[in-house]
Amino acid sequence: MSGGDTPGALPSAGLQLRPGEPPRSLAYQDVYHPASGALAQARHVFLAGNGLPERWRGTARFVVLETGFGLGNNFLATWQAWCDDPQRCGRLVFVSVEGHPVDAAELRAAHAGSALPARAAALCDAWPPRTAGLHRLAFDGGRVELLLAFGDIAASLPALVAEVDAVYLDGFAPARNPAMWEPRVFKAIARLGRAGTTAATWSAARAVRDGLKAAGFSVSAAAGQGGKRDITQAWLRPEAAHPGRSARARLAPDAPREALVIGAGLAGAAAAAALAEDGWTVRLLDRHATPAAEASGNPAGIFHAIVHGHDGPHARFHRAAVQALEQLLRPLDPRQPPAAEQRQGPAAAAGSGEGAPWFDLGGLLRLDTRGLPADALQAQLARLGLPPGFACARPADEAGARAGLALCHPAWEFPGGGWLRPAALVAHWIAAAGPRLQFQGGMAVASLARCDGAWRVRDAAGRELARAPLLVLANAAAARGLLPPAGQDWPLEVLRGQLSQLGPAARAAAGLPLPRRPVGGAGYVLPTPDGGLVFGATQQAGDTDPALRADDHRANLARLAALSPDYVGASALDPALLGGRAAWRASARDRLPIVGPAPAHWFGGPPPGTAPLRQLARAPGLFLLTALGSRGIAWAPLCGRIVAALAGGAPVPLASDLLDAIDPARFDVRAVRTGAPARPAPPGAGRPPATAGTDAGPGGRID
Ligand SMILES: Cc1cc2nc3c(=O)[nH]c(=O)nc-3n(C[C@H](O)[C@H](O)[C@H](O)COP(=O)(O)OP(=O)(O)OC[C@H]3O[C@@H](n4cnc5c(N)ncnc54)[C@H](O)[C@@H]3O)c2cc1C
Repeated sequence: MSGGDTPGALPSAGLQLRPGEPPRSLAYQDVYHPASGALAQARHVFLAGNGLPERWRGTARFVVLETGFGLGNNFLATWQAWCDDPQRCGRLVFVSVEGHPVDAAELRAAHAGSALPARAAALCDAWPPRTAGLHRLAFDGGRVELLLAFGDIAASLPALVAEVDAVYLDGFAPARNPAMWEPRVFKAIARLGRAGTTAATWSAARAVRDGLKAAGFSVSAAAGQGGKRDITQAWLRPEAAHPGRSARARLAPDAPREALVIGAGLAGAAAAAALAEDGWTVRLLDRHATPAAEASGNPAGIFHAIVHGHDGPHARFHRAAVQALEQLLRPLDPRQPPAAEQRQGPAAAAGSGEGAPWFDLGGLLRLDTRGLPADALQAQLARLGLPPGFACARPADEAGARAGLALCHPAWEFPGGGWLRPAALVAHWIAAAGPRLQFQGGMAVASLARCDGAWRVRDAAGRELARAPLLVLANAAAARGLLPPAGQDWPLEVLRGQLSQLGPAARAAAGLPLPRRPVGGAGYVLPTPDGGLVFGATQQAGDTDPALRADDHRANLARLAALSPDYVGASALDPALLGGRAAWRASARDRLPIVGPAPAHWFGGPPPGTAPLRQLARAPGLFLLTALGSRGIAWAPLCGRIVAALAGGAPVPLASDLLDAIDPARFDVRAVRTGAPARPAPPGAGRPPATAGTDAGPGGRID
């Protein structure tokens, strides 16, 4: 799918379940597995056919690619085999493409009598809404990863950034669903392979074997199972193997897996946690004594999906991110505060007492004030193929009933939306990573340089603070100042924001109701666990004033009043009754985050040309994760995962065109293509005041 296409609804396979018969697809008039059983087929054809479990032994990570997830039995059998094997690989990544995903209810029904009930239940619990694109599901503490690519196979395979070890070819029969077995599918698979990548399928069709051969596989027949005469096994010939696309930013494989992350806000903590989960030893440095002391120290913020008619890169990236956040939060107990949470002063502590939830995943309502009826909004969702589990449109009265407020406009309801205390998420990440992740406060990084295969960071006095082969700059707008001049040319805007808080007693005295769930529009309001309100927020470019301002509170009260007739009285409230917090957001001009490997040309490497971004030379081991704008809560988890995947050469949970859309070098490459400067001096661009240390350094260099 290209960036500008609208996805449309994912077609249904028409699952039919009948007692005593294998599940069937009415759309393809074919069974999901033979009568001899799905798990037996998985073990014989796909596991044994790919030399598993033996082949994953002694490896840190093993990647399986499957065409046709179906009901997930091959995944469950592989996961079970991995658990049963004392010599299993460190991590199992299972990437599966499915054009006709079932919904959660169908999946549960299909696994009602599963021979692997616990694993099937875990899969059903994590099953995402049926939206096109990649969905990452993590099991067994992240050591088993399922990357579901929902969409047409011809578009999904080229969008993968992965290097795979084994391939399960398991679409419906070639005669019923030829699109899964076309020569271009085999070629796309070969592009994801490396020398020795294996493939197996129950199909012995001549066209399948010919297609595999044409794509560079050597093919042989093996004994069949479940009534099949023989099956097909294949392995990729070395001369047909392509250098892995995900290798573009990888470190030398023998480099120690040690990482430094600068900045302990949402961005840095997300990257540090993902790296630690992938086996890196991580030091997370911040100039403050405690994590989440700047923008990520806000008492609470909202997160929700968005719906955009064109469903372009921003909407698709945001959808991937918000679904990754939901996957992260769903298994957590919101009333279980992260052990290591550092309280960030009175503002953050409001409503965060003992046993108070630190997030709520109970949905969010976003008003649509364009004057369109709810039916028109619902039609837009249908056109985009966005299912009710992701978003639905509500008329004003229905939306009001769900919000517990009178509302004058129809609203989008996002079931996976909610509110969250960012500092608690940061603390969760630090605590959950265990001893692999060490936070060190009071470390104001002023410069960086690469020497002897490691990045060294120094303070303003030139003292070395730390070194590691992998360095992630996650220090918001201050990241730019640590780079050499050639790396400072991104169009970044720094926006001051002030949010307002009304305590429970003052809220009750003012007669302002507590919403049941957050409501957004031109502003937003969310209920705090102690019965107060958080609402806001202002946006001021080039404003470096750290003080809370009465005028900004008034502006936030006006936003609150505009959300609901129940809040009209808010405009008359005395700002002196309000608490609040001011901080700075860093935003790129295209409103997408800046995530990925730093290009080599920032450090004197070859200048970018017109070649694709994935071919651009990169500075070894240097990554950026910044410009989270007003979306840090939703974006940080996915962005952290992306950095860890790219750094370690693992399958990336984002389509390749979206990876390009957030690439730190995109502005430079666009500038070369269009002949325009990357940063036409945006009006109002400024830097936030540094609360400690310095945010400007002499610029890095690679020695
Ligand atoms: C008023 C307001 C309301 C908001 N509301 C929402 C909301 O509702 N939902 C939402 O998703 N987002 C919201 N945001 C945005 C969200 O807060 C940010 O997107 C997010 O916090 C950014 O995280 P970060 O880690 O990139 O930056 P930060 O949290 O600012 O972290 C950067 C860290 O880097 C450290 N650092 C900087 N320079 C150095 C250095 N040289 N050496 C060492 N450490 C350094 C800083 O100390 C800081 O801890 C809001 C922002 C504001 C201001």
